[in-house]
Parts: sequence; structure tokens; C-alpha cells
Amino acid sequence: MANAAVKAKPEVAAAEAQQDLTDGFHLVIDALKLNGINTIYGVPGIPITDLGRFAQAQGMRVISFRHEQHAGNAAAIAGFLTKKPGICLTVSAPGFLNGLTALANATTNCFPMILISGSSEREIVDLQQGDYEEMDQLAIAKPLCKAAFRVLHAQDIGIGVARAIRAAVSGRPGGVYLDLPAKLFSQVMDANAGAKSLVKVIDAAPAQIPAPEAVKRALDVLKSAKRPLIILGKGAAYAQADDAIRTLVERSGIPFLPMSMAKGLLPDTHPQCAGAARSLVLKDSDVVLLIGARLNWLLSHGKGKTWGDAPRKFIQVDIEPREMDSNVEIAAPVVGDIGSCVSALLAAMGNNWRAPPADWINTVKTKREENIAKMAPRLMKNTAPMDFHGALGALRTVVRERPDAILVNEGANTLDLARGVIDMYQPRKRLDVGTWGIMGIGMGFSIAAAIETGKPVLAVVGDSAFGFSGMEVETVCRYNLPVCVVVFNNSGIYRGTDVNPTGGADPATTVFVRDARYDRMMEAFGGVGVHATTPDELKRAVDAAMDSGKPTLINAVIDPAAGSESGRIGNLNPQSVIRKK
Ligand code: ADP
Ligand code: MG
Repeated sequence: MANAAVKAKPEVAAAEAQQDLTDGFHLVIDALKLNGINTIYGVPGIPITDLGRFAQAQGMRVISFRHEQHAGNAAAIAGFLTKKPGICLTVSAPGFLNGLTALANATTNCFPMILISGSSEREIVDLQQGDYEEMDQLAIAKPLCKAAFRVLHAQDIGIGVARAIRAAVSGRPGGVYLDLPAKLFSQVMDANAGAKSLVKVIDAAPAQIPAPEAVKRALDVLKSAKRPLIILGKGAAYAQADDAIRTLVERSGIPFLPMSMAKGLLPDTHPQCAGAARSLVLKDSDVVLLIGARLNWLLSHGKGKTWGDAPRKFIQVDIEPREMDSNVEIAAPVVGDIGSCVSALLAAMGNNWRAPPADWINTVKTKREENIAKMAPRLMKNTAPMDFHGALGALRTVVRERPDAILVNEGANTLDLARGVIDMYQPRKRLDVGTWGIMGIGMGFSIAAAIETGKPVLAVVGDSAFGFSGMEVETVCRYNLPVCVVVFNNSGIYRGTDVNPTGGADPATTVFVRDARYDRMMEAFGGVGVHATTPDELKRAVDAAMDSGKPTLINAVIDPAAGSESGRIGNLNPQSVIRKK
């Protein structure tokens, strides 16, 4: 019963005798449930402790974290995986700020999520009179997310939640902030009127059909190509138009390059996959069809050395009209949702599309086979301590044998090398640091991936990256999730070999405790810890973890000298030309 949990203040108890009541707490929960949202990621505390309790009592899954940033990352990736906004629930000021990093990151990555934070009393906050956890959260959130709303009256909760859902998932998805002041939660209203005030959002992310002229223009450009390329981005993975995308790629015969989180949309082992010939296809292609991928830093902004000097035309499929021409001229913009756009392209292509010239296909194929052959022996090295390739070779086999497992990946070398080495076979199985290339998504993403999909999760994380969210292994154990964390432990950031240039007692700025045993962190909470020194040991331990489904952390000992500065993006790391010592 909605009114059972209303605190019985004398005046309320009297009124309750006459009518069925509800309150802000229950209206928020009912509004979420009405819209098919059944999971909340958060950290309890003032003023939202009871919200989490009641949500659990009402049958919602409420996952309590140790730090809001990880709850926020969990909500964000839940949004990516399900196309429904993931919910992160936090306390006021500091909890809100901790969640805000994840909200901003979700917005940058086009993941739909809603950060719901309790806040302190408006009257006091606005007069800056020094309330408990005083902060104008709405104003702070606004520039960092897609939309931000505040609800002051219980009867507006339904509308507030509806607006938040629509803003998160329609058009280009993103993060939404919903500010709920403490007083709102205990506001009481008639239960019938409350139920009527709720809004079930109809068609939250309406199809956006591309204009026929835009589709025709795109196909005209594509037909003119001698060396065409399709780039699939995480927008394509998000769209869940997997069959249509696969048909488009295969019917066109064009080589495709998956961006990191689009890997597996078609298998990396697909004959048209140009992943292992990336440099070549970027440099030599003359027409590039972008599907849900932005020409940002991850694609060298569509110009410069990476792309070479040959003239090139871009076709871009994206739901966000303003994405067009953001970095270079787009010859054929196709604006709409990817499902609708790809279907329209397919319909207009017909069944006798001419395959790209054979010499282009062969050039790509040759390069790809060459690069794969070059890498193969490095992946088989079974040494102790391991180098990155040896360890990743073992994990690559694991994923080949368990293609439905979800791979979470963060770090510097651990990220950059795993992206190239570990083939993916199914859509939305690779979750990583995304558009910002951030550290700290590891445990949040892993927890949500396990909760949302029920599949085993393999988190491959650098020792530095792991440090940002490591405490959440307690959460993994508490909810007994099938998460296997492999910490690539090279005792430092990039490498574990730096020394303090002064010869002083402090360690160098980029090194960690030598021979640390991260596996024991997992054991502290009842999970399984394994110390692995060879690729064979690593493979056995991961297999055991995946078979048992038990929370596991494997401390994979990597040669401290094996990494390179900033992984593959050393060029972004400014270095002084005046090296004093
Ligand atoms: P990647 O980093 O994998 O290249 P990006 O995040 O840069 O991917 O690009 C994703 C793009 O996909 C964004 O421009 C976003 O607007 C777009 N997008 C997301 N969802 C959809 C959708 N359902 N339909 C069309 N475009 C989408
Ligand atoms: Mg490291």
C-alpha cells in the first residue's frame, strides 16, 4: 500500500483515517515504475535514504554503491545497453557532485541516464544562509548535461519524471538532472489524485525518418566511390538495429571499421572487417560512410596525417543535425535515427548494388592478413612476468570461447592493446572508456552490465584505472555478481619503473606499491582472489571464474617495464623540451 510507509505525524494520521494518501517518495517510485524503470543505482543518505528503501520494498532493484561516481557510471551504461534511461540516485551537494562526473560523461557519450539528487531547502539555499549540504545543484548541473529540471510540488512529480525520460532518450541521448528538494519527499497528497498525476511516456524516442533526398544523395556519393569505407560508431551499437546494419554492410560489400564500442556489431573476424587495416583504410579511402560515429579526436577530426591528402567525401548518418560539418564538410548528411536511416538506405539500394572495385578489397584484405600474422606470435608468449600481448592473447581466447560475455576495458596500455587484440563477436559486448577516454568506469560498468544483461562480465583493467573504482569490489561481492576482474598489474601508471629524479625517499609520481596483491582485496569481501603470473594461469583462472559465476579478481603480474607512456595516445601528452635531468 502506498500509504503504509507515510510517517504518521498526528495531523497526517488524522487525515489518513479519512482518505488514502501518497507522498513524494512513493510518487517518484510509482512514476519510474509506470515507465518501465525498475532499477536504481545509487548511494543512500540524507534526504533519499527512504526513497531507496521504499523502492526496494516496492519491488525495484536498488543497487547501493560505495561512491556515487560508480553508481552514475552504472546508470549511464545501463542506458547504453537498454535504450532506457539508467537512474542514479544520490544525496545532496557532495553526493550530487560525485554523480555529476558520471552525468557529464554520459552526456558526452550520448548515453541516456537520469541523475536524481536530493537537495537542501530552496529558501535557505537561495539566500545562501548555510543549510546542511547547501548547494544550488540545478544551476551547477545545467551546463554539464542535456537537460535539468527541479520539482517543487508532489503533484508535479509525474510531469518531472516524464520530462526527464523524454529528454534523456529522444534525439541524441544524454544525461538529465532531476533535482528533488528534501521537502518534496514528505509532501502528502490524495492517492487517487497522485496516481492520476503520473504520466506514462508514450513513444519516448520517436523514430526520426530521414528525408528521401538525403538518402538518394548519400547513395549517389557512395556509388561514385572507388575506395569506400564504412565506419560504425557506438551510436550504431546503441541503436539496436543490428540486422539492418549487418545487411547494409554485407550487401554493399564495403570494408567496415568498428569504433571501440561498436566492435562486435559485426564480428571482428568478419571478412569485411578492416579493424586490422585501420591506418590503411583511413588514409586511402575516398568515400567514408559514418554511422553513429563522430569525427572527433578518436578519428583525428577527419583530417591531417591519419587521413592523408587524397580527396575524400563523407556521408554521415546521425540523429543530431548539428553534428554535420562539425570538423570537416559532410557531402551527404543523413539525419535521422540509425534504424530508420539504415532501412531507408537499404530500400533505396535495391538488390543489385555493385560491389566496390576488387583491387580495393584485395588491398585491404592483404594488409589485414599481414598485420594479423605479424601480431600472432606475440600473443602466444607464455612468460613470467607477462607482457601485455601475452596476457591479452590468453584473454582473446577466453572471449572467442565465450562470445556472449561482456568485456569492460579501461587503462592506458591495457586499453589500447586490448582493443586491438581481443576480437568481439556480438553487439554491445565491449564497454570501455568512451569519448573522453576516462579512467574509473571499470566497476560501475561491470556491475550494471551484470545486472542488466545477466551475462558474465570480464573486466580487463590497468592497475591505475582499477584504483579509481576498486572499492566497488565490495559491491560486486555484496550482490554476488558474475564479474571477473583482471587487474593488469605493472606496478604503475604506464610503467612501474620510474624513479624519483632527486634520489629522495618519495617514490616517483607514476609508480605504485611494488608487487601489490589486488587479489586480496576481493578475498577481503568473500570473493575469489587469484595471483596469476603466466598467460596459462591467467586463462585457467578466468575460465574458472566464468564457469562458477563467483566474484573474482585476478592479479595479473605484468612486467613493470612493458608499458609505454600514455599507451597509444602519447602524442596528446605534452612533454617539456627542456628536460633538466
Ligand atoms: P564513437 O566514439 O563510437 O565513434 P560517438 O559517440 O562519437 O561514437 O558517436 C555516436 C553518435 O551516434 C553521436 O553523434 C550520436 O548523435 C549518434 N547517435 C546515438 N544514438 C543514435 C541513434 N539512435 N540514431 C542515430 N544516431 C545516434
Ligand atoms: Mg599500470
